[in-house]
Amino acid sequence: MARLGSWIKAHPEGIYVTPADAWVDPSQPKAKALITHGHSDHARAGHGAVLATPETLAIMEVRCGPQNGQALAYDETIRVGEVDVRFVPAGHVLGSAQIVLEHKGERVVVSGDYKRRPDPTCPCFVPVPCDIFITEATFGLPVFRHPDTGSEIDRLLHRLHSDPSRCVLVGAYALGKAQRIITELRARGHHDPIYFHGAIERLNQLYESFGVELGELRHTGGATKVEMAGHIVIAPPSALNDRWSRRLPDPVTAMASGWMRIRQRARQQNVELPLIISDHADWDELTMTIRELEPTEVWITHGREEALKHWCTTHQIKACELNLVGYEDEDD
Ligand SMILES: [Zn+2]
Ligand SMILES: [Zn+2]
Repeated sequence: MARLGSWIKAHPEGIYVTPADAWVDPSQPKAKALITHGHSDHARAGHGAVLATPETLAIMEVRCGPQNGQALAYDETIRVGEVDVRFVPAGHVLGSAQIVLEHKGERVVVSGDYKRRPDPTCPCFVPVPCDIFITEATFGLPVFRHPDTGSEIDRLLHRLHSDPSRCVLVGAYALGKAQRIITELRARGHHDPIYFHGAIERLNQLYESFGVELGELRHTGGATKVEMAGHIVIAPPSALNDRWSRRLPDPVTAMASGWMRIRQRARQQNVELPLIISDHADWDELTMTIRELEPTEVWITHGREEALKHWCTTHQIKACELNLVGYEDEDD
């Protein structure tokens, strides 16, 4: 009998599904690509044909230009070559999907990036039991335990209200994190206008077009320091230490990222208020998910693979590392 999953090949530039003649999240242009979500390290320009959720296709059109795309809604199944392909929610960002691949009685789930805690901007991760689980491991070390999101949002609001002459400038990735912070603030009862950097405007609009309510948003361009005092401003991380921020009223610099667990990272980026809010599974979520899915094998990609591999081995699950290249942290 053939080795389990022998029809899936891990190449440095992505996962190749042989009987479908298609690649998952390839880092190089390919004739046929199955895309888990719109972050730039997963969704690249230049593929011949793209299969993705309608939300991910819309994100790719905004970020990479027109696509030869086919939209597949969550839980619909399509036959690609000799493989049944289905997208199920990954809980990572709007439109994010795990890809469920079935061929000759074997089921392989490619997680893409995922998290288990609720996110107001996208449906929750759906566990799909499988033979092989190909998981991300961005935060695959026991030191990474993300705190409760609500308490991090409360720290942000507390800081904002403690000095109404200043603003709090929150660095957040343009796709996903920015909109999640806004919706988490709304869920905590913060209904004041939130100012945004122009770089996140189109994605805000796209989220709203898919029914994610962001409340009253204002562009920082044209707003005065007096108007922005006592308000939250959301900008991509690259803008935090940029001259752009000089237009803001004495900003308290905050950053929302799983990496804020590491104090040194916060210091390097001159972050005064580190917020540990991540769109990735932390250590407990990674191990809980593997326990729940009970796969025969776990293949680990993009991140700190070693500790999770060891954990699997001690739990009698066969595990290996896939050395894919080109996955960076656009989206932590
Ligand atoms: Zn990623
Ligand atoms: Zn991502």
